Amino acid sequence: MKALEQMYENLGIDKGLLSLGREVENSLKERFEKIDETAEYNQLKVLSAMQKNRVAEAHFSGSTGYGYNDLGREALERVYADIFHAEDALVRPQITCGTHALNVALAANLRPGDELLSPVGKPYDTLEEVIGIRPSKGSLKEYGITYAQADLKADGSFDYEAIAAALSDRTKLATIQRSKGYASRPTLSVEQIGELIAFLKSKKPDIICMVDNCYGEFTEETEPTDVGADMCVGSLIKNPGGGLAPCGGYIVGRADCIEQAAYRLSSPGLGKEVGASLGLNQTLFQGLFLSPTVTAGAIKGAIFAAALYERLGFSVYPASKTERFDIIQAVDLGSPEALKAFCAGIQAAAPVDSYVTPEPWAMPGYDSDVIMAAGAFVQGSSIELSADGPLRPPYTVFFQGGLTWYHAKTGILFSAQKLLERNLISL
Ligand SMILES: *Cc1c(COP(=O)(O)O)cnc(C)c1O
Repeated sequence: MKALEQMYENLGIDKGLLSLGREVENSLKERFEKIDETAEYNQLKVLSAMQKNRVAEAHFSGSTGYGYNDLGREALERVYADIFHAEDALVRPQITCGTHALNVALAANLRPGDELLSPVGKPYDTLEEVIGIRPSKGSLKEYGITYAQADLKADGSFDYEAIAAALSDRTKLATIQRSKGYASRPTLSVEQIGELIAFLKSKKPDIICMVDNCYGEFTEETEPTDVGADMCVGSLIKNPGGGLAPCGGYIVGRADCIEQAAYRLSSPGLGKEVGASLGLNQTLFQGLFLSPTVTAGAIKGAIFAAALYERLGFSVYPASKTERFDIIQAVDLGSPEALKAFCAGIQAAAPVDSYVTPEPWAMPGYDSDVIMAAGAFVQGSSIELSADGPLRPPYTVFFQGGLTWYHAKTGILFSAQKLLERNLISL
């Protein structure tokens, strides 16, 4: 223990802060055991899917050009489908990010005259431009697809009356965001999502229920496709890439929905048959294999951050004792100075670019300046230790990731250290 403490001190962590950190960590032992159990279950789920599909070394050689007959890509998509207990999957490096995956899934399955419904309130910032809530070139709105929204109730529960009222003859697809993203509402559990889907299908049996699964993968033993979702969509530089995937996104679900998505992603007439995997198959398999434990480390980091910042007197969301269904932790820092200090600490703890200072910036897709701390091996990867927050009151930082629990913990201690050095907290 002495050598470890010395190591933290050498890195510049205050003695008092370190002992507070240790106290907080000790209080979380039982929580961490539960998280390890979920990780173990999901590890076996991934392993079983790989074995069932006879993943072999031959699957690791990539294709080039059109990418016809890419056995590795096809095996990877079957593995994803099995993990999600779904009929089919599209898992591609050509899907550039989560927003792109969601746009493909939506644009592919909607037609002019259809209506899209969000029964869980305002969607993630970047989706506003996809949908056309904020005017944007190429939005669904420009193609004559309208949008309706039913907000959650003040306590975060579903407003079934409002949802029923928002359904119309033209409602074709419901988009359900699992994680809270940048909003201050609870993240939905898979169980809650199942209840919502059951309600939607009772009112409109043919409605397509799509779940934005970003940040939710492997946080529970089930996924939304286990409770009736027709599609689950996410990014490979979040949980399911396990920190190794250098890019990519996935859509899993009903075969007909995935078929539509494949024709939209590549081209009518081409669909799933094209899309070179280049050299990425092995990395995408291996990242998926590591994802359950990487995700578990990130959840531990989120809970540790919540517990530590609660002790320091901040409002945190979710609270440290709340059950987790994603890897995001929000802390209301109350001032731009504290938000910048927090991000400076996360940046200083990074393995890459630790010497730079993050500054607020206008980000494409976001409607206010955002500050982001990320010293990642993969640009913008938020399964790696990262923090970001829009520069608007209450100056909430959204903290997520950490390829290992130890690194997540170090980053959080660094963030508090910066607040301490700038006299924004006292111990
Ligand atoms: C990250 C995220 C997205 C968008 O993903 P990008 O990869 O940043 O484009 C969409 N929805 C949610 C809930 C997210 O967390």
